[in-house]
Amino acid sequence: MPGSGTELGRPGTRRARRRAAVAVLAGLALAGAAHGQAPPEAPVAPDWRTPAEAAGYEATPSYAETLAYLARLAARLPELSLESFGVSPQGRPLTVAILSKERAFTPAAARATGKPIVLIENGIHAGEIDGKDACLELLRDLALGRQRELLDAATLLVVPVYNVDGHERVSPWNRPNQDGPVRGMGFRTTADGHDLNRDWLKLETPEARALVGLVNRWRPHLDVDVHVTDGVDLAWVFTYGLAEAPRLSAPVDAWLQARWPGVVAALERAGHGAGPYVSLVAEADPAQGIDSRVGEPRFSTGYFPLRNRPVVLVETHARKPYRQRVAAVRAFLGALLEDLRASGPALVAAVEEAERATVARGRPDAPPSEVVVAWRAAEPERIRVPFSDWTVERSSATGRDFLRFRPGTGRALEVPWLRRDVPAVALPRPRGYLVLPGWPAIESRLADHGLVVERLPEGRELEVETMRLSGPVFAARPYQGRTRVTPEVLRARERRALPAGTLWVPADQPDFEVAVQLLEPEAPDSLLAWGFLSTVFENKEYIDTWRLEDFALRALADPAVAAEWSRALEDEAFAADSRARYLWWFRRTPHWDRTVGELPVLRALEAPARP
Ligand SMILES: [Zn+2]
Repeated sequence: MPGSGTELGRPGTRRARRRAAVAVLAGLALAGAAHGQAPPEAPVAPDWRTPAEAAGYEATPSYAETLAYLARLAARLPELSLESFGVSPQGRPLTVAILSKERAFTPAAARATGKPIVLIENGIHAGEIDGKDACLELLRDLALGRQRELLDAATLLVVPVYNVDGHERVSPWNRPNQDGPVRGMGFRTTADGHDLNRDWLKLETPEARALVGLVNRWRPHLDVDVHVTDGVDLAWVFTYGLAEAPRLSAPVDAWLQARWPGVVAALERAGHGAGPYVSLVAEADPAQGIDSRVGEPRFSTGYFPLRNRPVVLVETHARKPYRQRVAAVRAFLGALLEDLRASGPALVAAVEEAERATVARGRPDAPPSEVVVAWRAAEPERIRVPFSDWTVERSSATGRDFLRFRPGTGRALEVPWLRRDVPAVALPRPRGYLVLPGWPAIESRLADHGLVVERLPEGRELEVETMRLSGPVFAARPYQGRTRVTPEVLRARERRALPAGTLWVPADQPDFEVAVQLLEPEAPDSLLAWGFLSTVFENKEYIDTWRLEDFALRALADPAVAAEWSRALEDEAFAADSRARYLWWFRRTPHWDRTVGELPVLRALEAPARP
C-alpha cells in the first residue's frame, strides 16, 4: 500500500488483519498445500512442507534454513546436487542447486545431454524473495515424485539466494510497498551498498564476479531473474520483462516469440494473471503509457542478450499477498519447464546459431557490419493494462500529485507500450580491440567475463582507430558508489606502434558484444562511463611557471604563435583565467603528456597476425 500512512504503524493495521486471514486459510488448506490451482496432487505431508509453507507464508526462511532444507531435498533426490560457487563478503557460501535427470553435474556432462541449461537466480534484490520459496516448492515436489516429467526438460541451475548478505538483513520494515512476507524480508543491496542488478557488466562485487564465473563455466541457454515490483496497482500478479530483437539476436528472439505466449497462456489458465512489466511513463498519469524495457547491460535483461541468451525478468506484483506471489512463480516455473520439454532442443540450437553468427561477423575476412553501442525506445505499441481504479491526489508530504489506487477495482486502459529498442549509436564493427598494457581495471573485467584475450608477444605497428575524449561531464552525486562521466569522443585513424604486452580482444568470439559494451566509451555501462578510467582526464605532471614563461617568450618570437595568442586573449573569460592560460601554453610544450584524454583502448581495423 505505497504512500498509505496507516500502513506505517504495522501491527494492528490492514496487514495484521490480512495476517490473521492468511493463518485461517493456512489451516484450511491442509498443511499449507499452496494456492488453489497448483499443484494437482494431494497435500504435502507436514514434514515436507517448505519453511514458507510451514509459516503460512508469513515468513521466508533464513539462508541457513534454506540451505538445510535444500540439503534434505538433495538427500532424497539423487538428481539434485548442491555446490558452492563463491563466498560473499560477509563469509556466506554462494550456493547453486543443480538439477539434472542424468545427474550431469558438470558443465561438460550437462552439455552432452543436449538439453538446455537454465539458470534461475533468486534474491538479487534480497527483499524480493518469491523465487527462492517457489524454487524450494518445485524441488520439493520433484523430490516427492510429483511432476517427475519436468526433469526431462532441462538442466536447472537454481541459485536460491544470490544476494546472500542482504538476505540476512531481515526486517518487517524493508520493502514498504510489498505485501509480505509480513514477518520480514531481506534488504535490496549488499552489505556495502551495491545493487547486484546494476553490477552485471562492471562486476565490482565479489558476488557478481562469482555468478558471472558460474555463467562462464556453464554457459546457460536461458536466464530467469526473479524480482517483485514497486509501483502501480493492477490485476496481474505475474509481470515479466523480456529482451527482444533487435537487442536479442534473431534466432534466439525467434525461439522466444514462438514459445513465450504459450508459457503465459498456461500461467493464465492456472489462474495467475500475467502481463508485461509495468513502469509508468508519467508518474501520475497511467494513460500516457507504460515502459517494459530494462535494457542496459548493468541489468540481467541487458547482459544476457550480449551473450546471445534469452532472459526472463520476473516481477511479481508487490501488492499481492506473499502466498499468491509465490504460487504464481511456482506455476510459472512449471509452465516454463513443461514448454522446454518440447522446445528445449530448439533453444539450444538457436543459441548456438546466434553464437556462430557473432563469431562469423567478427572474422578478419568478414564483410563490414556494425555493432550497436547504445539503444533507445522504438515507437510504442498499444496494450490493454488491467489497472485498478485510481484517483489523482496531491500529496501533502511531497507536494506532488500521486496515484491512489483502490485495490480490487478495475479500470483497464489501452495505453502506449514502450516494448522494444532500436539502435541509437552504432559503429563499424572492429576486428577487435587493443588495450594498452597496465590497465588492470580493464584487464580484470575482460577476464572476469571469460572473454578470449591474447597478449601481443612483441611490439608491432598496426592501423587503428584512436579515441580521444574531451569535455567530460561528471555526475553531481555518486551512483553505485561511482562518479559516472560522459565525454565527447573523437575517433581518428592512425598507424600506431603498440608495445609488447598489449592485449588483443578478437571480434570472432561468441561473447564479443560484452567487450563492445565494456570498451566503447559511449556505451551506457562502459568502464569509462562508470568512472573506472577517469585518470585519463587528469593532467598528472606539472611545469613551473618560470619554465613555462621561458618557453612562452621564446615561442612568441614566432609571429604565427604571437597572432594565435592575441586571438586567444580576445576571449575575456580566458584572459582572466590563469589556469586556462597555463594549460594553453603547457599543451604546446614538449613536456605535455599526450596520453591525457586518450582512451587506452584502440579499435583494430586489421587483426594482428596471430602468433
Ligand atoms: Zn528487484
